[in-house]
Amino acid sequence: MRVLVAGGAGFIGSHLCERLLREGHEVVCLDNFVTGRKVNIEHLADWPSFALVEHDIIAGAPAMARVERVYHLASPASPPGYQRHPVETMRVNSEGSRHLLDLATRDGASYLYASTSEAYGDPLEHPQRESYRGNVSTTGPRSMYDEAKRYGEALAMAYVRAHGTDARIVRIFNTYGPRSDPHDGRLVPNFIVQALRGEAMTVYGDGRQTRSLCYVSDLVDGLVRAMECRGAKGEVTNLGNPDEHTVLEFALIIRELAGSNATITYTEPAVGDDPQRRRPDITKARALLGWEPRVALREGLERTIAAFRDELGTGRVACAS
Ligand code: NAD
Ligand code: UDP
Repeated sequence: MRVLVAGGAGFIGSHLCERLLREGHEVVCLDNFVTGRKVNIEHLADWPSFALVEHDIIAGAPAMARVERVYHLASPASPPGYQRHPVETMRVNSEGSRHLLDLATRDGASYLYASTSEAYGDPLEHPQRESYRGNVSTTGPRSMYDEAKRYGEALAMAYVRAHGTDARIVRIFNTYGPRSDPHDGRLVPNFIVQALRGEAMTVYGDGRQTRSLCYVSDLVDGLVRAMECRGAKGEVTNLGNPDEHTVLEFALIIRELAGSNATITYTEPAVGDDPQRRRPDITKARALLGWEPRVALREGLERTIAAFRDELGTGRVACAS
């Protein structure tokens, strides 16, 4: 099959491209590198069935031969990333989504929209089920991301209803692994880099806020299953690992696994609206997709720390998934 991965040079997108190539598909990776990295996909250039199209999807879909699958992963994803690019984030999830939905509709392709647990905001329901409508600020410091993703979801549903487009939505919860940008400011990259360098590990606030971390190969498996599931048309499905810990616990585990004696320092809470609790209810993903995460936290962190050790030491990224 010919598959378009928008945002394919990003952290998750690069693993998805690799998985699709290994399965024998032809992969068109579209990216403008606003937050992605060439080094993430350099090792894919040797595959004859891989093509990179450097393009901003906000400007419209480039002319291309028919595709059968469209994965829309193109969007800044880390809080510092989308806060640095607020307008681009709004536009890629609105105008960019429209261009990709038009392309999918024209080609009769299946479409997958990478939404986010941020659609639930600072949730008042715990764990979060897909039926929960969220507690989101339309104007707060995360609104350019949260509301853009909610719009992207609504637009996908409008295409399902108006044009019969074979679109599905996944809400991705915090995902980590090799090739995530060591400098994008997220929890796992920050803590690993700080632990490996012996720098103070920056816990924002009191560190009692929680997250549930999913290893990237599990997440990519969920994306492919959601795309290939006929019953997923017009459905929203959570993808994430329900293994919930406090931010302080993550810092302590990473420090131990990195063999570091870095100190832990408590800093100001993250800029506004930092969700206090987050854990996916994945009952629907289990039933609809036959999916659940398999990589345990410590195992995934060990692999990630090894890749970061390699990258920080050599300036290049380890290719292991
Ligand atoms: P990432 O920043 O590493 O990847 C996103 C990619 O999209 C980058 O390569 C970037 O350059 C590209 N992109 C952004 N705007 C573009 C545009 N206008 N045109 C073309 N390309 C563009 O982020 P990621 O962590 O790999 O996230 C991938 C997707 O998954 C995003 O849509 C994100 O919102 C979603 N998501 C990720 C997480 C997570 O924990 N990583 C959680 C929830 C949702
Ligand atoms: N966090 C932290 N120290 C850091 C980076 C993040 O304490 O150096 C916290 C942050 O305040 C949040 C959680 O870790 O509560 C996850 O942050 P991240 O930026 O990874 O993603 P989010 O889930 O907020 O989108």
